[in-house]
Amino acid sequence: MKRVLAVDVGGTKFAAAVVAQDGTVAIRSERVHLDADPDAVLAAVVADVLAGPVDAVGIGTAGPLDPVTGTVSPVNIPNWRDFPLADAVRRLTPNRPAVAIAGDAQCMAIGECWRGAAPAGRAVLGVVVSTGVGGGLILDGRPYLGPTGNAGQLGHMTIDPGGPPCPCGNLGCLEVLASGPAMVRHALALGWTPRTAADAAELAADAARGNAAALAAFDRAGEALAVAFQTTAAMCDLDAVVVGGGVAAAGPVLLDPIRRGLARRGGLAFARRFDVRIGALGRDAGLVGAAALAFAQVSADPPLRTEAVV
Ligand SMILES: [Zn+2]
Repeated sequence: MKRVLAVDVGGTKFAAAVVAQDGTVAIRSERVHLDADPDAVLAAVVADVLAGPVDAVGIGTAGPLDPVTGTVSPVNIPNWRDFPLADAVRRLTPNRPAVAIAGDAQCMAIGECWRGAAPAGRAVLGVVVSTGVGGGLILDGRPYLGPTGNAGQLGHMTIDPGGPPCPCGNLGCLEVLASGPAMVRHALALGWTPRTAADAAELAADAARGNAAALAAFDRAGEALAVAFQTTAAMCDLDAVVVGGGVAAAGPVLLDPIRRGLARRGGLAFARRFDVRIGALGRDAGLVGAAALAFAQVSADPPLRTEAVV
């Protein structure tokens, strides 16, 4: 049975796993790289899981990325600008196999369509709600990565044309309305007083207890997410939207306002038929998706077909 190395490069943590052809995670490791040398942490997390040759490598990474050159410039890893991530991971393997690379939210969408909440979905939007908001599209059963590899950037879809500026240069992006930090900022402005940490987890706990400011913050984010999902469904004829990322752990606290936002809107029947669900793979979704990309390079019967090769 073939097995691949999957690597998940996040803004604060790196994860690596060896994944079997049926999608099971054989061995897994995770290391925080904040305030550390990212090259050394990457080498360590791969060494944690790798005991010999693998058939291919798949990488899901925080962007921006260039899938042709395999280079990345993650916003939260200032040491890495045009960093040759694909080559660096390949050099950490004994047999230097083929490497495929895609965005972390794209890998989450791929993972959830292969082994998670939307098995064999033909048109699926995967959304990561976390420090930012990311997205990945599966269209006609295949990952749609786009000519530059950056398709599905839901976080930078305009939701409010006159809305607050986004660091990307646009106005009223989904990310400035619905990311974890955006929800926290909004709640604080409404008078929310966190007991321990001003973060999305505590905000979700307070919303679940009925705190008005916390509920209002989730309402605003849910409304913005509902607009983004409905707009994407009108464009792409979606079967499902799968929501992952740290804020998705809030479950109904996040899902209920999204569903209310969708219910308030009309729309054509085809664009309203998708359902919204929380991802089934949790923090493994990106690794499982990266593994699917890797198997697409070396398997005669890959889980999902894609052209993402470095
Ligand atoms: Zn933006």
